[in-house]
Order: sequence, then C-alpha cells, then structure tokens
Amino acid sequence: MNTIIYWFRNDLRLADNAALTRACAAATHILPVYCHPPDAVTPWGFARAGAHRRHFLASALADLASQLRSRGSDLIELQGQPQDILRRVATAVGATSIFCEMIAAPEEAGEIAALRMSGISIDTIWHSTLLSPAELPFAPERMPDVFSAFRHALERAEVLPAVPLPIPATIPPLPDLPTLPGAVLQSAALPELKPEARSSFPYHLPAFSGGATAANVHLDQYFARKLAHTYKATRNGLSGTDYSSKFSPWLASGALSPRTAYAALKRFEAEHGANDGSYWLWFELLWRDYFRILHLKHGLKLYRARGLSSQADPAHHPDALARWRAGKTGEPLIDAGMRELAATGYLSNRLRQNVASYLIHDLGCDWRAGAAWFEAQLIDYDVYSNQGNWLYIAGRGTNPRDGRRFNPQKQARDYDPQGHYRALWSSG
Ligand code: FAD
Repeated sequence: MNTIIYWFRNDLRLADNAALTRACAAATHILPVYCHPPDAVTPWGFARAGAHRRHFLASALADLASQLRSRGSDLIELQGQPQDILRRVATAVGATSIFCEMIAAPEEAGEIAALRMSGISIDTIWHSTLLSPAELPFAPERMPDVFSAFRHALERAEVLPAVPLPIPATIPPLPDLPTLPGAVLQSAALPELKPEARSSFPYHLPAFSGGATAANVHLDQYFARKLAHTYKATRNGLSGTDYSSKFSPWLASGALSPRTAYAALKRFEAEHGANDGSYWLWFELLWRDYFRILHLKHGLKLYRARGLSSQADPAHHPDALARWRAGKTGEPLIDAGMRELAATGYLSNRLRQNVASYLIHDLGCDWRAGAAWFEAQLIDYDVYSNQGNWLYIAGRGTNPRDGRRFNPQKQARDYDPQGHYRALWSSG
C-alpha cells in the first residue's frame, strides 16, 4: 500500500492537472487535502484574506469536493500552516509522500522547504502556465525582461501550449481515515455578505461561482456568444460581465487551466475565424505567463521594497492608505474603483491600473501596501500577476519606463465620458 497526499494549492481542478495525474499513477491510496492558513493580519493593519476571496474560494472547494466524491474520493480541508499540519496528517495516515503544484513565490516555496526539512518527501510539479518553462526558447533565468521581447521570442519560436490532460481515469481511494489533526468543516465561519447587483463578477450567482463546473460553462458560453471577436475593442470597459473574458477568478484558483482556456480559444478560431480580438486574448494570457516566468528568473528580488530597481524605499502614509482603501481620496474615478473593489472583490484592469497608480504616484504610498490590499480583496488574487503588475506600475519591475502614472481626470474623460461608472459607484 502506497498512500500519497495530494495537496491542492492554486490548482483546484481535476482536468489538466499534471501533478494530480502523476500522483494518481504513483499511489494505491490518495488523500486529497486543501490547507487553510490561520487567519492573519498584514503589516499594514488589515486582514490578509477578505470576505470576497474567502467566499469565492469556499465555492471552488465545494465544487472540487463534489467532483472528487463522485469519483469515490473526497476533499479534506485542513486549518493550519501547511508545514505543520501536513506533517502531522502524513504521519496520521502513513503517507509516503506529498504531491503538489510548484509555486515560485517566496512564501509558498518556503512551505515546501520547511516540509522537506522535516523529512517529508514532496514532489512539486509546475503546471500553472500556458507554456511549460522547459519548452521555452530560452532558459527561464535568461528570459527577456521586457514583455514585448518575451512575446516576440515565443512567437518567433512558434512554441504552443500542450493539449490539456484529461481527468485521471481513476482517483485512487482514500486511505483509512483516523481523526485528522486540523480537519475543518467545509466553509466553516464564512462572514456574511449581501449580494451586490452592480458587480462585474457577481459570484453570488451560480454562473459565477467558484470551481471547474462553473468555469467550463462560462468558457463555453463566452466563445458561443463570440465575445472573443470583440475582446480587443471592449476590454477597457469598466462595468458589466461581458467587456472582458472574466476568466481570471477561475484561472487564479486553478479551477480553469490556461491550456484549457487556450484550447477553447483555438477551437473558436478554427470554427469562426481569428481576428485581432481573439489574438488579443492570447496576448493577455501571455502576460500571465510572463509574470510567472519572471518569478523563476528574479525570485525574491520581486518582493523587495525597491523591487528590481535601485530606488530608495517608498514611504508609508497610513492616513492616505486608509482614505484610498475606503474610496475617500476625493478623486471621483479612484474612489468609485475602490468602492467597487471593496463591495465586489473584482475590478476591471483599467481601474486596477488607475487606483494602483494613484496610490503610488499621487498619494506617495508604498506599493506593497496596495498589493496587500488587492491580495485581501480580489477574488482573482494571484501572487504572480499581482506582484508583477504592482511592481510594473511602481516602476520597480521590468518596465522600460520609470513607472506608469495615469492621470485620473484624463482617464475618466477617455473611459467614462458620460460619468456612468462614477455614478454607479458614487456610494459603497
Ligand atoms: P481579460 O482582460 O479577459 O484577460 C484574459 C486573461 O489574461 C485574464 O484572465 C488574465 O489571466 C490575463 N491577464 C490579463 N491582463 C493581465 C495582466 N495585466 N497581467 C497578468 N495577466 C493578465 N490579475 C490576476 O489574475 N490576479 C491579480 O491578483 C491581479 N492583480 C493585478 C494588480 C494590478 C495593479 C493590475 C494593474 C492588474 C492585475 N491583474 C491581476 C491583471 C488584470 O487586471 C486581470 O487579470 C484582469 O483584469 C482579469 O479580468 P479578466 O479575466 O476579464 O481579464
């Protein structure tokens, strides 16, 4: 008997899950687990995981659990630091090893290092990008730093994403389960939230709930309605469910794999033709890969206050940060965006850029505080994309310019000329 723990991290799916597929092939018994970290407060003084993110995650876990149950398995939710709780659970079930996704961010890599230090065998498998790092035309540590050079190199080399893997034909059964340390009730103690009708990603509706089931239905309807053809023209929208793909919450939690999204895009183009709209969707998915591979190259440096730059550390102004978080800066477009974020856990890319720029360049605050607030709020929080985009706007990442400063009044004229968006979010 060979029991393996499969530790779901940001890969809450059964299909196109290379690490799970490998674990299923290697084990006679599999214990699928998810670890909820203990509640934590950020150095900036607010809870690390806000209510929206926790709700969306709970629905993704419920969907994953029901898929596992329908295959004779289950999902065990654990509460505690993975390095502590997984070690105890491995002992309790006599597991020989843990399989999981590789995440190249410092905290997540630290969890793996701590587990290895305690003598546990762990297999980590990279499977969160469209393109596998091994198939790139350059070693990750030699990737071009500038996005357009990165994209051109990929397109010149014609590297394409692999075909998504199927769901493993069988999930090995659970081992005998003693009372497990740290096991928690599904969705225990979720804060109450009232549904927000103005949301661009109304996750209280079944069509927008977490998990692979809703993700796949969403993907199908997005392409069936041919929205990819108009993506480039509409993607700078501020409000509504259709102006951009809305794949991100499912991609970030791993309910949807990027290769599955890409395969659907290619099927769509084969049937209905490619245009600049459908090309642009690939272009944006490459940004997602870019920030991931950048982590393989620069690692911890992306987490320094100065990032990749040699600039002085940014200042921290707690009062300005508090006004920004509350949508009370006095700048109508920024305040509308911050209210939407707090009320819904989602924000358009255009507004993300604007509110980030405002915090950094107008209020003179520390970009890391803004990144932490996004981490707490966003239902699509993704460590790589969040860190990379914040650094980029702060001018402390890989961007060729000094930082991306947006003029909120000009942005309001260009993207909200009638003031509809500001009126919609004139109150929280
Ligand atoms: P679409 O416009 O439909 O794009 C399709 C997909 O391409 C997205 O789902 C996403 O996976 C990828 N993508 C698009 N733009 C970017 C980008 N700039 N960087 C990386 N990937 C991109 N995205 C996250 O998923 N999680 C985050 O935590 C996150 N934090 C951000 C913080 C800041 C300051 C900024 C400016 C952007 C951030 N983004 C983040 C990127 C982007 O805003 C979202 O991916 C996008 O708005 C999600 O909506 P969508 O799926 O409809 O995107």
